[in-house]
Amino acid sequence: MPPARRTAPFCSASCGGLADAVYGFPRGPTSDIPGGVDARSLSLPVMPSGAAIPMDAETAATYGLTLRGDARAHGLFDRFGRAHTYLRISVTERCNLRCRYCMPEEGVQLLPKDHLLSFEEIERLAALFVRLGVRKIRLTGGEPLVRRGIDDLVARIGALKAHGLERLMMTSNALLLREHIPALLRAGMDAVNLSLDTLRPERFRRVTGREGCEETIAAIHAAARAGFRKVKVNAVVMKGVNDDELVDLARAFARELPIEMRYIEYMPFEGNGWGEELEMFPAASIRGRLEEQLRLEARGLNDGGAGTAQMYDAFEKDGRPFQGQIGIISSMTEPFCGTCNRTRLTADGHFRWCLLDEGEIDLRAPLRAGATDGDLAGLIEQGLRSKRAGHAPAAVLKETQKAAGPTHARSMIRIGG
Ligand code: SAM
Ligand code: SF4
Repeated sequence: MPPARRTAPFCSASCGGLADAVYGFPRGPTSDIPGGVDARSLSLPVMPSGAAIPMDAETAATYGLTLRGDARAHGLFDRFGRAHTYLRISVTERCNLRCRYCMPEEGVQLLPKDHLLSFEEIERLAALFVRLGVRKIRLTGGEPLVRRGIDDLVARIGALKAHGLERLMMTSNALLLREHIPALLRAGMDAVNLSLDTLRPERFRRVTGREGCEETIAAIHAAARAGFRKVKVNAVVMKGVNDDELVDLARAFARELPIEMRYIEYMPFEGNGWGEELEMFPAASIRGRLEEQLRLEARGLNDGGAGTAQMYDAFEKDGRPFQGQIGIISSMTEPFCGTCNRTRLTADGHFRWCLLDEGEIDLRAPLRAGATDGDLAGLIEQGLRSKRAGHAPAAVLKETQKAAGPTHARSMIRIGG
């Protein structure tokens, strides 16, 4: 069997030669973040630029990689052999809520109108990513449903299913969801992740700065009945804010309905009060809190091991099973960087390879200056080559974001969750 060779049909000469790279093993330091994750601790192979040791089929298989044929068709690879088959596209930085954990108290400056990618530009980039191996696209924001004409954009992206896209998904706060459900289903939307941190209207108002608890709950139920392949509910868990509602949330959505109830560790982003007025409630405590009243059976990471949520089947203590499942996303205390397959496109057209790294490459300016698909693919590959093995620990992230300030570090609402 010949060594694993990646072909990079769109890679321009300036992109640095991913086309000639072969897999290799770690040599020298594999993390440049103080206290950061080392690739070896994640069992990741490292792809050195120089004398790489070719990977044979057996080794490739242990990393879940294929040597057969067009490896390239299975995703964009980084230095550690991780295939990036998942793109999250933020379609707006605007939102109809003001969640404190997502944005600075004073809000964010509105993007100048011409900085926002047009539908045509999003469609072109999405199509390019699909040609490069992306198989799942999630539309997010800000709140994706506040973008005018969103149904049209969803239909355009849905049409990529005829060209290799396998899954189309959206993350939304669900406030405007009910009126869009028929159009989303027509466009081929497979799954929706709907965010709700509390079942209590007064608490909802405090966390999100707006009304809307009852409407969100109604929209989640409507989505569960509507025929999406999957409906998930996302709750960010904050100590002393909603950590007393974890079982209530699970019972409200996952007991009688096939909904996945997901609890997300609160992550630090620019200006979001992390570790100051708001505190993280770690995954181990989330599990503990649920197990005070429920029985959980571990099912491993979602998406066949490549996902971000540790999955559990849930049962009442008397043995009654839940229809849905429980997911716990432990980005801070038990990171899953070793299996990361995600990339991002911001609403203002910047490519990002890690949610928790400020690195990004502008695709909008070259796109508007007439760049070819090959030029854009070169930039995407260049960005991906700087992806680190893992993100920095929470305290380091917090300090880096603080030092960078709002001009250089993005809050979650400006990245796209
Ligand atoms: N507006 C939509 C929504 O709320 O679902 C989509 C965008 S929002 C940024 C995407 C997801 O990120 C939501 O589920 C939200 O709860 C989550 N999120 C926002 N800030 C977060 C933080 N600091 N830590 C963890 N999750 C966060
Ligand atoms: Fe808006 Fe979603 Fe951020 Fe809340 S989490 S402010 S709903 S973008």
